Amino acid sequence: MQDRDESSQSTVLEKESAKKLKFAKNSGFQVELRRRVDELFQNSKLKERDCPQMYAKTATLLIGFLGTYAALIFLAQTWWQVVPLCILMGVITAGIGFSIQHDGAHHAYSNSLWVNKLMSMSLDLIGGSSYIWHWKHDVLHHTYTNIVGYDMDLEVGMFGRLSPSHQKLPFHRWQHYYLWLLYGFLAIKWHFFDDFNNLITGKISDRNYPRPRNSNLVTFFAGKIVFLTIAFVIPSLFHSFWLVLASYSLVAFTLGLVLSVVFQLAHVVEEADFPIPDAETCLIEKDWAIHQIETTVNFSRNNPFLTWLLGGLNFQVEHHLFPNVCHVNYPAISKIVEQTCQEFGVKYNYHRSFWAGCLSHFHWLRRMGTSF
Ligand SMILES: [Zn+2]
Repeated sequence: MQDRDESSQSTVLEKESAKKLKFAKNSGFQVELRRRVDELFQNSKLKERDCPQMYAKTATLLIGFLGTYAALIFLAQTWWQVVPLCILMGVITAGIGFSIQHDGAHHAYSNSLWVNKLMSMSLDLIGGSSYIWHWKHDVLHHTYTNIVGYDMDLEVGMFGRLSPSHQKLPFHRWQHYYLWLLYGFLAIKWHFFDDFNNLITGKISDRNYPRPRNSNLVTFFAGKIVFLTIAFVIPSLFHSFWLVLASYSLVAFTLGLVLSVVFQLAHVVEEADFPIPDAETCLIEKDWAIHQIETTVNFSRNNPFLTWLLGGLNFQVEHHLFPNVCHVNYPAISKIVEQTCQEFGVKYNYHRSFWAGCLSHFHWLRRMGTSF
């Protein structure tokens, strides 16, 4: 579950923000769940971090990335070779984000701080700022999941209405069709607008956050330069700029689509709650752990390939409860979470398949676009 480090950082952020939200008093569920999961690690050979499978997976993904990159630059001759390689590269890049960067950023990869930092910086190589990600994802999204105005993953501007608290516009009645296409532009917007906008304004959406300074600022710009070199400069030495631009667009579109859909299936579906804190007391109705479970939905828990590729984010409930534990352990933890939820009367939400999750997201978007 959330460590002290993250909660103290959320306090820093709250000092910078207008209102401090509070969760309801611990119901006992969280303590019992933690005890059972601690027991799992004590009584088995499972390791919370520094798992050999994770190091093997990192090598596989990075070799896959370099191999695909080299094949695109040196081997591909025709469009029917370029297109599948670009799509593959988008999927592998998403895999690097889901597994290597995400675990590193949550200090779930290793017990060593520098290993986590290094792994989280893989995001800078693929075009995003690891520093801004920390505040946007580790702090805001993970603490205030599905609370409008705090969880910035719910903000898609005027283009969509993802929760009942968002304003409805007439064209949202078609959002369950067109948003899928717009999801593809997430990475391109992130690469060229979002990080720079967050840096200049000192805000993530309308929440203040501490701007990067000193070494974090150097990493921010160094990461952008390295990314632009990988994405545009090196390929342009061997191919026309227009071909490079078209290839980048296809890789980035695939990446954006995969990242967006995996997020939406976890939090923006019919089964997920969108709690509204009390306007006077700023109190969130449920305790932190139950809040995480009720705002999050798993999918395809029995699909080992998806579990591998998505860095365990099809077990998003377990990720939200235990973000500091390496994702390779989520399937084992999941059985304990489900059982404990049953005993405490907490609803444990999941979809049996990826497609069932997609359908639920489609239905939710249609409901949000057509009803008040
Ligand atoms: Zn996370």
